Amino acid sequence: MSAVATPRSTTRAPGAALPGAKTSPDSVAPMPLEHEDLVVHRGSRSGHYVIVAVHSTALGPALGGVRLWHYPATTDAVRDALRLARGMTFKAAAAGLSLGGGKGVICGPRHAAAEPERRDLLLDFGDLVESLGGRYVTAEDVGISPPDLVAIRERTAHVTGLPPERGGSGDPSPFTALGVEAAMRACARVRLGSPELAGLRVVVAGLGHVGEKLARRLVEHGADVAASDIDPAKRRIAEEMGARWIEPDEEIVAECDILAPCALGGAIDAANLPLLRCDIVCGCANNQLADESLAESLAEQGILYAPDFVVNAGGLIHVYREIRGYSEERARELVRGIEQNVASILRTANEREITPLDAARAIAMERLETADAEQPAAA
Ligand code: NAD
Repeated sequence: MSAVATPRSTTRAPGAALPGAKTSPDSVAPMPLEHEDLVVHRGSRSGHYVIVAVHSTALGPALGGVRLWHYPATTDAVRDALRLARGMTFKAAAAGLSLGGGKGVICGPRHAAAEPERRDLLLDFGDLVESLGGRYVTAEDVGISPPDLVAIRERTAHVTGLPPERGGSGDPSPFTALGVEAAMRACARVRLGSPELAGLRVVVAGLGHVGEKLARRLVEHGADVAASDIDPAKRRIAEEMGARWIEPDEEIVAECDILAPCALGGAIDAANLPLLRCDIVCGCANNQLADESLAESLAEQGILYAPDFVVNAGGLIHVYREIRGYSEERARELVRGIEQNVASILRTANEREITPLDAARAIAMERLETADAEQPAAA
């Protein structure tokens, strides 16, 4: 069934695609409605729509963040929820987690929601999550901060990623950075003959929560790191940690061993792809390819592209730990397992003569079909 349309590109900044011009039905591709649940509810307090899409619970409860965003139309918000929920299913399955995929959306007002309106929106969403009885577990996403999760928690227990003082696991970015480093080692082993990062030239494009921590780790491991950010204030951070600063317009085309897109989605598109001068693309950003077919072009160009949703699963594993009650050390061990997970995807890609992206999807599909994954693959 092709009931719902979704933006052709899933690669913009979270939330940024929809308020832009590309929202007319002419510019969106149909998307199969293959989800288990789609609940669209008008909140009794706020009068705004709150949405949960549960794509799959085959492997476990559907986990996915909730975003608070103003959409031009509620149908845009529905599409976003459906698209993102599906992505979460693949991400969890590829990471070997006993989790399904879901996503929440709060259709916010045009203006930034302030109190008491914000609280009403959050409580309405909390009620919706609770009504699903644990089939969907929410977390932080665009437009939502830890205090917002605390408000949602007033209405439902199915919340992860709460601040540590509220019994949650807190900031996932150190775990995401650790996972990206692990993925880089797997890629370097296959493409450059050694997992050793010392001496490799790595471009970290985006020194945000994850990028900065990743860059620091790489510098500590002896990599030759160049970093960029559209925020010029990050230059001082780069230089203080011992990385070279490069301007954002040079980041994607800089000559290096590993390019790590760590900012927004769509970093690699048809225009800049032929200009890439790296051996490996491996970073934390979601939806790094402006179009998934570019994975094929990267392979043809001899560039190893590590699928982003596998590389950046450290944050998800970190949140998963809350559900399973793991210790921080156990969570780290599982995140380090991303190295084996990526290695196995690259092996499968090689054996089946497909791209790593196709291999990751195939492995995720196989796990979904057998629905027998209990622990991360590398555990
Ligand atoms: P963040 O907002 O903290 O950092 C993003 C940084 O990128 C900012 O410093 C911003 O100024 C910079 N930036 C934006 N456009 C840029 C450009 N064109 N060139 C260079 N820098 C640019 O975000 P984050 O939490 O570090 O996440 C980064 C990416 O990783 C996002 O795509 C996010 O969805 C993804 N991700 C994050 C986590 C996590 O644990 N935080 C987990 C999985 C995936």
